[in-house]
Amino acid sequence: MDNPRPPGRKFDGSFTQQEAIPEDAINAAVAVLQSGRLHRYNVAAGESGEVATLESEYRDWQECQFCLALTSGGQALQIALRASGVQRGDVVLTNGFTLAPVPGAIEAVGGRAVLVEIDETLRIDLGDLQRKIASSGARFLMLSHMRGHLCDMQKLMEICDGADVTVIEDCAHTMGAKWAGVRSGNWGKAACFSTQTYKHMNSGEGGLLTTNDPLIAARATILSGSYMLYERHGAGPSPEAFADARYEMPNCSARMDNLRAAILRPQLTRLNENLRRWNERYGIVEGRLKAESRIVTIPLPPAESHVGSSIQFRVPGWNPETCRAFLSAAADRGVEIKWFGAKEPTGFTSNHQSWRYLTQQNLPATDRILETLFDMRLPLSFSSEDCSLIADLICEAVGEVEN
Ligand SMILES: *Cc1c(COP(=O)(O)O)cnc(C)c1O
Repeated sequence: MDNPRPPGRKFDGSFTQQEAIPEDAINAAVAVLQSGRLHRYNVAAGESGEVATLESEYRDWQECQFCLALTSGGQALQIALRASGVQRGDVVLTNGFTLAPVPGAIEAVGGRAVLVEIDETLRIDLGDLQRKIASSGARFLMLSHMRGHLCDMQKLMEICDGADVTVIEDCAHTMGAKWAGVRSGNWGKAACFSTQTYKHMNSGEGGLLTTNDPLIAARATILSGSYMLYERHGAGPSPEAFADARYEMPNCSARMDNLRAAILRPQLTRLNENLRRWNERYGIVEGRLKAESRIVTIPLPPAESHVGSSIQFRVPGWNPETCRAFLSAAADRGVEIKWFGAKEPTGFTSNHQSWRYLTQQNLPATDRILETLFDMRLPLSFSSEDCSLIADLICEAVGEVEN
């Protein structure tokens, strides 16, 4: 190495430490606790309640028509699938590279997941999508914008509209991202967001479902466990939309509560600023990694407004042994990297071969890409200096295993 660092230089921060909940959110949470009215339908006369207010504020921010707050992103996925008409036994296409709640939601509603290959940019392979629509006869696509990488949404919608395939977007990693100026989530029939601690807003657990379709919104509301109190929602459709849904949809009890909504509302007012702060961090790390010739970063097309709350990179040509040596060289420097090529699932990371509840699927292209794919969170608790140091340490670790 031409410029060795002092031996033992390490990053001593935490990759799982998010920023504190802002003071005004804490005060709002305390006020809910003091009122005792935590259930979303438990409101005082003339009060709309924190959940209903969050729904209308998020609807406005997302620039869509309807919004429903739920217990988790995973519940939002299940409810969106059912509300869009998925029935037991229906094929649901989804990305071969995603997180376990996605195939989990398809399985939970009785769907049959058929996985679509990804390309080297980690986005869904549109050629394979077309082939699998044709071969499976699928009428649904659960599109996972995995790690924030949006595919060409115009092309995707052309393919799906042309084949009469309903698109549901998993926006767990793309809250705030856009393609061609349109927010992720506003392309398909319905979209699902997560407010779990590691996503773009933090209520511990939580989810938001958005749509412009009044029937989907009505069905989702009844599915969420609204009983017949759906008129108390903040961003729901008019009562006529519930004519059939109120009898046909089961109550799956997945409501958000006022405490979590109270924590989220002040975070929503800071979301745009936080998106900018993530991209600042992403830019620092990406810039340094790009300068290391062995590392391949993920291209961000000009049409995409990306939110860099995590970063992925590949080191093509490495074998599993080199990958493991790199993970431990990085860990020695305090840098926690995830690897999607591991045989055994660990932490939050698993790949399709571990999802044995699905029919096993043959995804040679995806497997080859995941074999050398690394992933790292960029929490806002990292400073710019932290980001520079981490990127340097990654490059140093790559150098160590190569030499
Ligand atoms: C986190 C996540 C979900 C589910 O969100 P939860 O709120 O944790 O249930 C869905 N899809 C992806 C890609 C995720 O990362």
